[in-house]
Amino acid sequence: MQDFLQTLPKVELHLHIEGSLEPELMFALAQRNGIELPYATVQEAKDAYCFSDLQGFLNLYFQGMSVLRNEQDFYDLAMDYFRRAREEGVVHIDMHFDPQAHLQRGVPLEVVMAGLLKAKQEAEESLDLSIGMIMAFLRDRPAEEALHVLEQAAPYWKMLDAIGLDSAEKENPPSKFVDVFERAKQLGLVCVAHAGEEGPAEYIKEALELLNVERIDHGVRCLESEEVVERLRREQIALTVCPLSNVSLKVVEDLRDHPLPKLLSEGLKVTISSDDPAYFGGGMLTNHLACAEAFGWDKAVFRQLTRNAIEEAFTTQQRRDELLRRLAAI
Ligand SMILES: [Zn+2]
Repeated sequence: MQDFLQTLPKVELHLHIEGSLEPELMFALAQRNGIELPYATVQEAKDAYCFSDLQGFLNLYFQGMSVLRNEQDFYDLAMDYFRRAREEGVVHIDMHFDPQAHLQRGVPLEVVMAGLLKAKQEAEESLDLSIGMIMAFLRDRPAEEALHVLEQAAPYWKMLDAIGLDSAEKENPPSKFVDVFERAKQLGLVCVAHAGEEGPAEYIKEALELLNVERIDHGVRCLESEEVVERLRREQIALTVCPLSNVSLKVVEDLRDHPLPKLLSEGLKVTISSDDPAYFGGGMLTNHLACAEAFGWDKAVFRQLTRNAIEEAFTTQQRRDELLRRLAAI
């Protein structure tokens, strides 16, 4: 099974590039940029990666990314993850990035975009990896700010595959961002949003109805509403489920208690992603291996999950067909 899961042409639809920052790279970038970290050693940083909920994680996440200052830093961040993902047999990544988290530290959007786009181009040319770009907005920040950033991103609109909505879900319902998502739709951008992770099933319904999202990031709490499950099933809306993230953030106590098998048996279009691999215990292969162990899934289940992700990936039809052929060949 380990060999099969390594070879499986895995597609990751839910990955925050800032959450792929490993402590080793964080230290290297801190040194390069003359930034003082609150940790003396890499091990001390790893030991501090301890949180019990989404807010606890977000505090560390925003602190960690303070080392990202220049174009080269964003390039190094992305390439470091792309190489690791490729080693784990990942062939496509839809990458979320958080411009507001950098703008509020005084890092211009141009710096972020230049570094990430350079890494994307290089990975697509040399790593047998395709990359989708999702500009995400921080839902715990004001909606007006998100709208302003979306306008500011005009030079990059044609390079974006979608906009997303992430960060602290509680008390920040999708309805807060109706104007932002309406504007994105006008611009021809696809919309996705985190919903139903810490927030209730109602937020999934809102994201679908008010924000017109094409897929739901996480969405595991849909099971609390038969109406929402029915709609997700009928419209085959993809859920980007992140098993080890859900364990780390205590959405479930143990992976064996995770609703993944239930989501599948309900006929929902489930996919597997790593979310923030540097913080949640591993990348795509680790997530797949953990699911194999916790749920005893056979190869057919993993093939189905991968087919779901390939069908939904932000890529060209040519690349999609190629990935489907590769999946059929293993
Ligand atoms: Zn996420």
